[in-house]
Amino acid sequence: MEAYSRKKLNLTGQRFGRLTVIEPAPNMGKRTAWRCRCDCGRETVVTTGRLRSGKTASCGQCVERGLSCLTYIDGTCVEMLEAKTVRRNNTSGVPGVDWRASKGMWRASICFKGRRQYLGSFARFEDAVEARKRAEENLHDQFLAEFGRNGSGKGKGPA
Ligand SMILES: [Zn+2]
Repeated sequence: MEAYSRKKLNLTGQRFGRLTVIEPAPNMGKRTAWRCRCDCGRETVVTTGRLRSGKTASCGQCVERGLSCLTYIDGTCVEMLEAKTVRRNNTSGVPGVDWRASKGMWRASICFKGRRQYLGSFARFEDAVEARKRAEENLHDQFLAEFGRNGSGKGKGPA
């Protein structure tokens, strides 16, 4: 109660760079802190000062790794793709694979840089997943080649 009766600004829901404030976090020392979610999916706790000054505009880890999260695959930062995160609103449980009831087929697709590419329709679920996986790997490599500018990541040549 006490904490909330104090006059303090509420940043919940506000966006700072790649961070969206989710809720107040326990103070860090004397500073007010906020639990934030980065566009890459990580959560981090940041003080008001650092948020408002722009000193902290992401979880820090995605930037560190050279992944700017400016490009999304299916609305997902590649980092999340790496973590094999499956979006909950997907019926098949696999991103980019949808059941086409009218055709009785599984359709695979992938979205890259805002454009959806259809990978084909498949009678077998496994085939659709496989097609999607291959496309993911291709785009993933492309993405890292373009955006993976953390110097040391240059070692991996084309397949
Ligand atoms: Zn991040």
